[in-house]
Amino acid sequence: MHYDVVIAGGGFSGAYCARALGKALGQEEGEKRVALIAERNVLVFQPMLAEVVGSSLSATDVVNPLRQFCKGVNVLQGAIQHIDWAKKEITLDGGRFTRNHVVTFTNLVLTLGSVTNLSAVPGMSDYGWPMKNVADALRLRAAMINRLEEANLVEDAAVRRRLLTFVVVGGGYTGVETAGQMLDFVRDAHGFYANLRDTAPRVILIHSRDQLLAEIGPKLGAYAAEVLEKNGVGVRLSTRVAAVTASRVILDNGESIDTNTVVTTIGNAPNPIVLDVCRQLGIEAPQGRVTTLPTMRVAGHDDLWVAGDCAAVPWNDRGELKVAPPTAQLALRQGKILGKNLVLALRGSEPLPFTYRYMGQLATIGRHEAVAEVMGFHFRGFIAWWMWRTIYLSKLPGTLRKLRVVIDWTFDLIFPRDISLLLPPPDEPLRSIHLEQDEQLFACGERCRAFFYLKAGSLLIERPGGEPQVMAAGGVIDQAEAGPDNCWTCTATARERTDVIVFRGRALELLRNDLRLVKRNGG
Ligand SMILES: Cc1cc2nc3c(=O)[nH]c(=O)nc-3n(C[C@H](O)[C@H](O)[C@H](O)COP(=O)(O)OP(=O)(O)OC[C@H]3O[C@@H](n4cnc5c(N)ncnc54)[C@H](O)[C@@H]3O)c2cc1C
Repeated sequence: MHYDVVIAGGGFSGAYCARALGKALGQEEGEKRVALIAERNVLVFQPMLAEVVGSSLSATDVVNPLRQFCKGVNVLQGAIQHIDWAKKEITLDGGRFTRNHVVTFTNLVLTLGSVTNLSAVPGMSDYGWPMKNVADALRLRAAMINRLEEANLVEDAAVRRRLLTFVVVGGGYTGVETAGQMLDFVRDAHGFYANLRDTAPRVILIHSRDQLLAEIGPKLGAYAAEVLEKNGVGVRLSTRVAAVTASRVILDNGESIDTNTVVTTIGNAPNPIVLDVCRQLGIEAPQGRVTTLPTMRVAGHDDLWVAGDCAAVPWNDRGELKVAPPTAQLALRQGKILGKNLVLALRGSEPLPFTYRYMGQLATIGRHEAVAEVMGFHFRGFIAWWMWRTIYLSKLPGTLRKLRVVIDWTFDLIFPRDISLLLPPPDEPLRSIHLEQDEQLFACGERCRAFFYLKAGSLLIERPGGEPQVMAAGGVIDQAEAGPDNCWTCTATARERTDVIVFRGRALELLRNDLRLVKRNGG
């Protein structure tokens, strides 16, 4: 499959770029010439995720199907595994049955945002609940309900108090909004639990800097901290988390907080796919943000464009030259302009520089209160909360979705919050697969995405130019069989009926980085 333009990443900048291209080119031309590669087939409206945690909105309110939103371009669902710049080739993993799908491009648009890396705080990746996508928000909501249910069962006051203590790490937008929503939710839900009358739930917000919401200014940051405290959130400023275990958070001052629920909103890290493209091109991307020209093109590479959180786009903010900050409003605006620029480039015209009239920033802090800085004016309390809802509602794409949100918000004002426990399916760390004789487990050159333990049967391992070897039950295939490019250096085929245990995801990560427990070839 070849496209004139491939947009990598279906977040704000990618989706709005694709939408603008689809509109300008029309369906017939757009679907042939433009592809949007997205890990999931929805655009997530991240600024409203905290409302899903707090049960003010349902998960479907904050997502928009990309196929409807970006009509006129070809949406390809898959996780990008590798971009080969020399071959202008992208390898993506479309799912269990479409692992190594290759797409080629003439122009590449990188809108891959950032990733989360929690390795700096021991225990955080094991016990911290991230807040980045809809599944995270749903899992966190389910975890809060489960803690209330468990606390309602236990008689030990210390255990109950630990179960009812919720810690949020990080005092930026996500942390502040999530802490506010969590407190609203657990306080409202708490009234339905007969055994919890004497123990009130607590939410504690831990922030390493001396002020919350650094993006919005010291006055509003201080106000946010004051209101959160007044409402019952324990705000700890200038405090770092040193480690997290299953039952406590240890702070850098040696103090520890007993809790079974830690939400993490820290650990933003560069997207490795973006860094790899930069490495291939020999360009710099400080903190994972590729410096672009004002048109969002990369200097010296006319066929590479970057926007959103993974780009450092020069921005003339009312006469002051800045780099556009990584926020939703700027990513959205960059996407729109980049779409237009690509149309101009495809038609042989000069692209336009990025322009944006900054409107302001808003953040909710719970209990129908918010802080807002709009066109240089500061607002706080209920009026700011009302502005937050009105502005975000106007930005939400799609009339049906807007209507649903208005209805949900109205119900949220009148009725108690929904405390039904609707758990998303648990992650599957281990899986077993069955192969019949002559079926291939993987082929030489394919990307290594799992390790394998041979439970029963046998495999034929063939290396280019080498003698085929037989692997018997008990054998292990791990990174020793993968090359430096993380691709298999051999082909594995079942010699008979064979059962294999597959280590993927977190299990694979642990094996790859930390464990060497299994023995090679059953030896
Ligand atoms: C919970 C939360 C709340 C927020 N609240 C606010 C707020 O109130 N105000 C504000 O201004 N900003 C807020 N932000 C930040 C804002 O959402 C980002 O600045 C914005 O989303 C950046 O847009 P983007 O297109 O650059 O990246 P993203 O929207 O992050 O999109 C990147 C896309 O790339 C995809 N991707 C990444 N790697 C791969 C891969 N290998 N293969 C395929 N796809 C891939 C991701 O799945 C994602 O869809 C919030 C962020 C979060 C997480």
